[in-house]
Amino acid sequence: MDKIVSLCKRRGFIYSGSEIYGGLANTWDYGPLGVELKNNIKSDWWETFIQKREDIYGLDGGILLSPKIWEASGHTSGFIDVLVECRSCHRRFRVDFLEGATKCPDCGGHFTKPKKFVPMFKTLIGPVEKDASLAYLRPETAQAIFVNFKNIINSFHPQLPFGIGQMGKAFRNEITLGNFIFRSLEFEQMEIEYFIKKENWKKYFEEWKKLIENWLVSLGVKKKNLRWRPHGKDELSHYSERTEDLEYKFPFGFKEVYGLAYRTDFDLRKHAEESGADLSFIDLETKKKFYPHVVEPSFGAERTLLVILLDAYKEEKERVVLSFSPKIAPYKIAVFPLLANKPKLVKKAKKIFENLNKYFTVAWDDRGNIGKRYYAQDEIGTPWCVTVDFETLKNETVTVRDRDTMKQTRHKAKELVKHFQKKLKF
Ligand code: ATP
Repeated sequence: MDKIVSLCKRRGFIYSGSEIYGGLANTWDYGPLGVELKNNIKSDWWETFIQKREDIYGLDGGILLSPKIWEASGHTSGFIDVLVECRSCHRRFRVDFLEGATKCPDCGGHFTKPKKFVPMFKTLIGPVEKDASLAYLRPETAQAIFVNFKNIINSFHPQLPFGIGQMGKAFRNEITLGNFIFRSLEFEQMEIEYFIKKENWKKYFEEWKKLIENWLVSLGVKKKNLRWRPHGKDELSHYSERTEDLEYKFPFGFKEVYGLAYRTDFDLRKHAEESGADLSFIDLETKKKFYPHVVEPSFGAERTLLVILLDAYKEEKERVVLSFSPKIAPYKIAVFPLLANKPKLVKKAKKIFENLNKYFTVAWDDRGNIGKRYYAQDEIGTPWCVTVDFETLKNETVTVRDRDTMKQTRHKAKELVKHFQKKLKF
């Protein structure tokens, strides 16, 4: 893990938040390569689960929602962490993470009595600081979906089953620190509420388990490092009848990457009751009115990114490689002139770079020798390097070096776009 953290900082993936002011614990900033990687993950998710599915609609709800929503959804009373504090070193712990320990794992001190804590960030709307202007930063994206349920029905008239999905920032006042970006105060969720008839929930729950896992595997993550873990009855969220976590074998143990929850009709029913709006659904055949039930796959963008980094990291004899799947690699291709001090080579290489750059994300490097440039590109996971050499000037061909096999092949420069487009089709 330390090696990943240091590579991420050195090569511009992830920096600690507010670093020059001593840092702000549990916050992270994404550098040029980190933002590309995260965007590629998010676009692949959006394409797979929203754009390519006729039965799932996209949404981008607000971060600030009426505080009444968090009361109706049960968050202000039921979204609770139970904490204890060590009387000696004052470190705080979530009781559910202590695995039965009765003394502080850091210093052996005694704990205070457990206290309940709502991990939602509060803020105030308007210029006057009074309770009536209290609002929360959303701790999950799901609620905007439930409160827009009727809008989507009215605009698109879908039949069951159908889903509404959205991605965006969520905020939680987490007190457990550490493990890099695994747990942060702000993070991005990618969530779907999949509305179904009650009697079908088990079928869709199983179907979503496969879809979730297959998606992560399609991003290059090894299946052998994943497992499903059902929640025990005492662990279930206030809204859920059944939840299973997809866990990854992190260096700090098997931990949750995504959650899949059967939320029953809890949310639609509660919002209908509290708001007075009619959030029921009319079955076309039976003409019966009812609240659809819901299966909710909930993905975290940062945990996806961390899993991808850990799974792709390899140390070989003479190099470090991030063997990202090409479709999510920050740069697909790097272009080099063999020698930086030969203007003809540089001019030719720049032309090839500019042309490829119209179609792919491409890196340019003319520093040091070729060996060093390959090393640097391997370390950031660039799948292919194109070198322009003296032969190029004679016959318009270049070498393409493959990150994983390290083999070099010769290609016509004018066929490069087609060549890479073919490689990037999955
Ligand atoms: P945990 O038990 O680890 O606190 P959770 O069960 O509260 O997680 P969910 O409410 O199921 O998490 O959130 C859905 C997904 O959002 C998680 O699977 C994870 O990918 C992501 N997520 C939740 N909290 C955080 C966080 N603090 N930092 C980064 N990602 C998070």
